[in-house]
Amino acid sequence: MTTEAAATAGAVVVDERAELEATLVELEGRPQSQFRAVAGPAATVERRATDLGDEALAMRARLLRATALVREGKSEQGGRWAHQVLDWSQQHDNPFLLSRAHRVLSIFYRQIGDLSEGLAHAVHCFANLTDDEPDTIRARHLMTLAVALDESGSIEEGDRRFREALALATAEGDLELTLNILNNMAYTAFENDNEPGALDLVEHMRAVQLRAGRDFGALELDTIARIEMMGGRYADVEQTLGFLVDGQSTVESHEGDASAVCLLTLAEARRLDRRYTAAQEALDASVRLAEDRGLDRVRAQAREEQAALYAATGRFHEAYEEHKAFYAAATALHSTQREAQARALQAVFEATEARRASEHFREMAHRDALTGLYNRRYVNERLPALLGEAVARRTPVSVAILDLDHFKRVNDTLSHSTGDTVLQEIAQLLLEAASGPMIAARMGGEEFLLVMPGLGIEEATERCERLRLRIRAHAWEPVTGALTVTTSIGVTTAPEGRATPSTLLSLADRNLYVAKREGRDRVIADL
Ligand code: GH3
Ligand code: MG
Ligand code: MG
Repeated sequence: MTTEAAATAGAVVVDERAELEATLVELEGRPQSQFRAVAGPAATVERRATDLGDEALAMRARLLRATALVREGKSEQGGRWAHQVLDWSQQHDNPFLLSRAHRVLSIFYRQIGDLSEGLAHAVHCFANLTDDEPDTIRARHLMTLAVALDESGSIEEGDRRFREALALATAEGDLELTLNILNNMAYTAFENDNEPGALDLVEHMRAVQLRAGRDFGALELDTIARIEMMGGRYADVEQTLGFLVDGQSTVESHEGDASAVCLLTLAEARRLDRRYTAAQEALDASVRLAEDRGLDRVRAQAREEQAALYAATGRFHEAYEEHKAFYAAATALHSTQREAQARALQAVFEATEARRASEHFREMAHRDALTGLYNRRYVNERLPALLGEAVARRTPVSVAILDLDHFKRVNDTLSHSTGDTVLQEIAQLLLEAASGPMIAARMGGEEFLLVMPGLGIEEATERCERLRLRIRAHAWEPVTGALTVTTSIGVTTAPEGRATPSTLLSLADRNLYVAKREGRDRVIADL
């Protein structure tokens, strides 16, 4: 390829990356009610980003897909993906994805009924936001925290976060987000039986909706109707939801689940208002929608409403039968829901376990089985990097090789297992001596290594001398009886890190050989 062609190819990749990122920004900014429409394009972005080798963009797309799944109630796969993104963002130090993955996980855990885990992720989703995040994101994450606090019973704490979120969204002029926050606040006030607060919030919602110039969505309508029912204002409920019955609603089709819930609310209001025929109409419409879309939960709730409606009109036998049907449906639903929850948790748990296991195996591969010290493989992997860092910082690295003196005697006159115990106790003494960034390793047999980053030859030699005395002074008597245990040590230094690992080790080894030849139990350094 010519340089010109290479430059063009580079520009194409940059362009494609920029295009993918722009698509992501657009998808991430969509109102949450559009979650179904996000999944498809996000999958395309993930595939293209993967082809480009851009993991960060691929993970961002994957999190969008996870969000869509969680909102759709497909918790199992959604929770697993969100955990994957969380792991990735922790390993790659990516705060953008870290805070967002925590947010999705907060929703996931609340959905499967684990409120305390939901709250923990909500706290992280807010705490991990960096200073450069826009206020709209801050507001979204505050809202998630507020909902989680509220559901966990910290109503005042939740309320404080709701108000902060609202203030931010309002100041930013983000009407969609403002409405979303207000809707959550109003529903929370309804659930907490706070009618005056709920009514204020509905007023506020109406004002924002007017400015936004769009109709309320089904979720918002249901909140408003519930609050109207609190005060027995059934005519208002009729105003709010009545138009849904004739099937000509403009409420968007992807909110079908929420529309079915609205119709159920309407049926209840009409029953309480003693308009039984109209109540039956709303109920039938709800059941049709629920059966069409396989909304099992709404279908079960509709049976309960049907039982109440039969009872209100004196048809007690039918009420009783319908109630039994409701009870059976609810129980079946509960058990499938519990199974789904258990499966979702299991899937997430296994993913986390698999990661822990692989970390565990990696760690094991770097350790010596007898002593638990690092092994030769680890030293071979780590030493080049340590020397590189030392060159960059112009700091020294010293190494010392230790070899036990006449160790064969321990094995021969006592036993191999006594020899093992000696090696283990030596490892402890080495660990005690290896402070800070120092590395203690067993290179094999009765040979050990100390790596001392930052230490020059004099300090390193002094440390080794102290270690030698410490080893000989150790209380060996319970292990080896009359036999003493001593070491010979060879030390060397790479000033400013300038040496290859192999020259460094062979210099230390040469000094060790000198120590042995001169009578053992001593430290030799290349001074
Ligand atoms: P020198 O002072 O010259 O080093 O004498 P030495 O006896 O220590 O010499 P050498 O290096 O020849 O012997 C090392 C012995 O260490 C040989 C082997 O039996 C023993 N050894 C090696 N690995 C282990 C182990 O894992 N456990 C035990 N108990 N002994 C081991
Ligand atoms: Mg040896
Ligand atoms: Mg030896």
